Amino acid sequence: MGMVNRSIETRASLAVVGAGVAGCAVVAGLRQQGWLGSLSLWEMGRGPGGRSSARRSRQDPDLHINHGAPCFNLDSAALELAPPRLLKPLLAGGWIEPWCGVMASLGVDGSLHPPLDSPLGRGQLFQGRGGMDQLCGGLLALGDQLGPPIERHFGTLVRHLSVTPAGRWRLQDAGGQLLDEVDWLVLSSTLLAHPRALLVLGWQVIPLLEVARQLQDPQLDHALATIGSIRSVARSALLLVSGADAARHWQQLPFRLLEFDPPAQQRFGLSRLSIQPLEDGRCVVVAHSSTVVAEEHLGVYGSRSAIALQLGAGGAGEREQQLIAWLSEALQQALADHLEPGLIGAADRQLMRWGAAFPLQPGLPDALQLCAGSRIAFCGDAMAGPGFGRVEGAWRSGEALAASLLPHLQGRAPTPVPRAAPSGQNPQG
Ligand SMILES: Cc1cc2nc3c(=O)[nH]c(=O)nc-3n(C[C@H](O)[C@H](O)[C@H](O)COP(=O)(O)OP(=O)(O)OC[C@H]3O[C@@H](n4cnc5c(N)ncnc54)[C@H](O)[C@@H]3O)c2cc1C
Repeated sequence: MGMVNRSIETRASLAVVGAGVAGCAVVAGLRQQGWLGSLSLWEMGRGPGGRSSARRSRQDPDLHINHGAPCFNLDSAALELAPPRLLKPLLAGGWIEPWCGVMASLGVDGSLHPPLDSPLGRGQLFQGRGGMDQLCGGLLALGDQLGPPIERHFGTLVRHLSVTPAGRWRLQDAGGQLLDEVDWLVLSSTLLAHPRALLVLGWQVIPLLEVARQLQDPQLDHALATIGSIRSVARSALLLVSGADAARHWQQLPFRLLEFDPPAQQRFGLSRLSIQPLEDGRCVVVAHSSTVVAEEHLGVYGSRSAIALQLGAGGAGEREQQLIAWLSEALQQALADHLEPGLIGAADRQLMRWGAAFPLQPGLPDALQLCAGSRIAFCGDAMAGPGFGRVEGAWRSGEALAASLLPHLQGRAPTPVPRAAPSGQNPQG
């Protein structure tokens, strides 16, 4: 019996698109549950992490900038849920640690107040040790310890999807080159299934929608219609790196994380500020714009973002510099009562734009997250459920998907409804 299961187990193959928290949690979760089949992970960014990543520099190995989530919270007690299963091993392995900084809020007149009751601040807070990307790095390392190595492919945008007559998924890059052919596909990001791909990447069609037309799977059609209707809000982020002298001023501020209350967001055009001291005495400061400011500057990427590199777009040149100057001035005004003038202008400054920073409710319901008839499944912070729109939701959705995928990958699940044979291949295929 064990022998039979093992042979089925190792024969099935799975590709996961996206190495953010959800994608890394699904691969680590599968290994933790003993699945030893072939696993590949495809990510357009230069490393794992997605919106919980850290910007690093080859020339400056001590530098890491948490340019998305600066930390994350687990609200398990309030949600009356056990913490994610992989939490303990990640803490024990030193990949993540409790976040112990002070939180505060800023009022419209620039005055400081106790923290707001925000969904991002409830429960226990944690951070990646030495950078937020360590959370995903740790998940992948745990996965590797528990089974055959997870094949990682960074810096690779999956551009085309198609299905063979035998029902296997084919992944191709922008040039039409075959990247992988697998039994099962997991999308941990909505990008390949959402109209924003048309806007952001200038594509003519939504890749998964094109395939779904051939598959004629009502559950997948329903999932795609729901994913297509998920809206999200954007953020532009000003990233500052201050030398050791200026860093002291930042570190003397009586908070590490500052949230702007709604009137302050409207006045200053900023929503959050995070102060991230580096071990060598320097200090990183990241200021997130308000939604309104980010939406007004959606076309200004930040020349060092993964998407700008993928598109071969060098950011927006002058517009990027203008937005950096505007956000710097806004930050200076907001902190006028607390910070010496000149510190912001003297820092090394960069821009990062998150086109879809936070999804908006309700997200993709449970019943549509695994479409067995088409051997495709979804995870990520846009899945309806506890922790929605946060690291916790992404993590939980990945672990939950691993549990529900397992019987399918092991051939123990009921036979799915047969799907229509695709009428043709992707023209690139
Ligand atoms: C500015 C900001 C601040 C935040 N602050 C907090 C916070 O304080 N606390 C908190 O809990 N959460 C916070 N969040 C939200 C948190 O970052 C996300 O909920 C979480 O990281 C989402 O993880 P994910 O795996 O679902 O998605 P993602 O991190 O988006 O991962 C998806 C990955 O898929 C990759 N990808 C997509 N399509 C393709 C493709 N076709 N080919 C190859 N790769 C592809 C992307 O590059 C990405 O790396 C913040 C987010 C932002 C932007």
